[in-house]
Amino acid sequence: KKLNSEPLFGAREREDSVAMLVKMEILDVGEVIKEFESMTKDAENVQRETLKKILEENGNAEYLQNLGLDGRTDPESFKACVPLVTHKDLEPYIQRIADGPPAPILTGKPITNISLSSGTTQGKPKFVPFNDELMETTLQIFRTSYAFRNREFPIKNEKALQFIYSSKPSKTKGGLFAGTATTNVFRNSEFKNATKAMQSQCCSPDEVIFAPDFHQSLYCHLLCGLIFREEIQFVSSTFAHSIIHAFRTFEQVWEELCADIREGVLTSRITSPSVQFAMAKLLRPNPELADLIHRKCSGLSNWYGLIPELFPNVKYIYGIMTGSMEPYLKKLRHYAGDVPLVSADYGSSEGWIGANVNPKVPPESTTYAVLPNIGYFEFIPLRENAEEQVQDKVDASFISMEPKPVGLTEVKIGEEYEVIVTSVAGLYRYRLEDVVKVMGFHNSTPELKFICRRNLMLTVNIDKNTEKDLQLAVEEAAKLIAKEKLEVIDFSSHVDLWSDPGHYVIFWEISGEVSEQVLKECCNCLDRSFVDAGYVSSRRVNAIGPLELRVLRRGTFQKILDHYLGLGAAVNQFKTPRCVGPTNHKVLQILCDNVAKSYSSTAF
Ligand code: AMP
Repeated sequence: KKLNSEPLFGAREREDSVAMLVKMEILDVGEVIKEFESMTKDAENVQRETLKKILEENGNAEYLQNLGLDGRTDPESFKACVPLVTHKDLEPYIQRIADGPPAPILTGKPITNISLSSGTTQGKPKFVPFNDELMETTLQIFRTSYAFRNREFPIKNEKALQFIYSSKPSKTKGGLFAGTATTNVFRNSEFKNATKAMQSQCCSPDEVIFAPDFHQSLYCHLLCGLIFREEIQFVSSTFAHSIIHAFRTFEQVWEELCADIREGVLTSRITSPSVQFAMAKLLRPNPELADLIHRKCSGLSNWYGLIPELFPNVKYIYGIMTGSMEPYLKKLRHYAGDVPLVSADYGSSEGWIGANVNPKVPPESTTYAVLPNIGYFEFIPLRENAEEQVQDKVDASFISMEPKPVGLTEVKIGEEYEVIVTSVAGLYRYRLEDVVKVMGFHNSTPELKFICRRNLMLTVNIDKNTEKDLQLAVEEAAKLIAKEKLEVIDFSSHVDLWSDPGHYVIFWEISGEVSEQVLKECCNCLDRSFVDAGYVSSRRVNAIGPLELRVLRRGTFQKILDHYLGLGAAVNQFKTPRCVGPTNHKVLQILCDNVAKSYSSTAF
């Protein structure tokens, strides 16, 4: 007879069963890749099925009922009955959902959460529906890109330094939780399990992620990262901007962080009791660690290679790095040293689109393979042909042309398109207003390169410059200050139509003092770098006035970030508004109030 104290299993068996448990919890990446491969081989059918499923599940929604589909779920009937819409068209429906009571308005099952999209373009956050189905697609895309990433850069089941934050939670009139899409994701109980399965658990406790104040949250993320420095496998954030922001902050507070670690006592700048309590559990006096970090930081030249120095086992840096994040890559590489940068997936608060399944490709060339079962997708061709483009520019606006979208598998390599989404969360033929370019195919699903936001445009008359054009011009001009070891911390733009003729205004925040002469050259270089034919010809005849470069005081973009946080946005989703429209009064005011110097181009 066995004694009670005798173990049920021998040591060997116990080890096996623990190993099995761990194995069960960890995602089977091979299986995920297999599923993705098989689904993308049959993208057209999967799209058909996905549309059918979305329409069947939401057939009783008031919005669809009114469109005369009468139970039909095929793409042809769908396109014939359902109009293309923008957020503005759906606003009254979404407002009714937010105001309650629960009803099948856009979806069959009433919507339970509202996401606030970052709204950096229009100046105020938009409401978009969020539901369990959207959560499931979020996890699916996370799993997919993780599987491909892990194949190239395997990580240990340890920790991740994730600069993730929650927005100020609020309730709508109808009692629905309203937060940023990322907050909706982080709050969801499935999220924790998923990150466990992907060996990507955040090194910070929940209290830090959900801290009432973003600055406290950031400080503690950094502190937790340092405490667990040896275990950190990767550094991430939703958009890469937050990583830069975090390490710029590190440059300011590193000695304070070292002091906290040395004494085992949290700085008095952390005032939230829940954060204090959670951090107290992690902090112990550790003078050796404090000395080590101090030594490492003191030994760096201009913080080059800071990330691998602090986190010796980091395998990669992860976050969205394309589109409006591209201007930050240079700085990110500076902090990253030789650690690879891997861009995260492509999606929006409205729904996910594609995963980065080639993680070794540098962010400048990253493409996103569309997941054919994550939504139903259509694409409005934007004419590539140069002659036609000139014609487009003569049209008042090419958004006014009657768009003829094509299906997911009908897109052509090398062409640019605007993305139309039909989501699992009640958006049907919704214009995302993003411009993408088809770079190739993964099996039969397209691989998209993110180009720009469609409505982000500098235009005075026949000229049209996109966010990308602006970025290229800024990069070109920034080379002039790079010679003096200075950089453009951030930038934005505005079209000044009050002056006659109207002209472009570019705002720069620079990392140090630059001579008048160099700034004048930068201004001329910016003006010359907009090579769009409409712009150049208008400038030559002075139908567009000289470009103006306005140099901002240090900290101006921090004020803009704070302004958006005040509106309920989260740092996670923050994208610097690259073109500030005339209705975005507050941001324009912040920019204009903080101009230190201004220059007018003499390039033409
Ligand atoms: P939000 O509405 O705040 O969720 O932001 C969504 C928008 O961010 C998208 O419509 C894109 O314009 C941009 N975005 C999202 N993912 C990417 C990506 N991988 N690359 C470039 N831009 C992206």
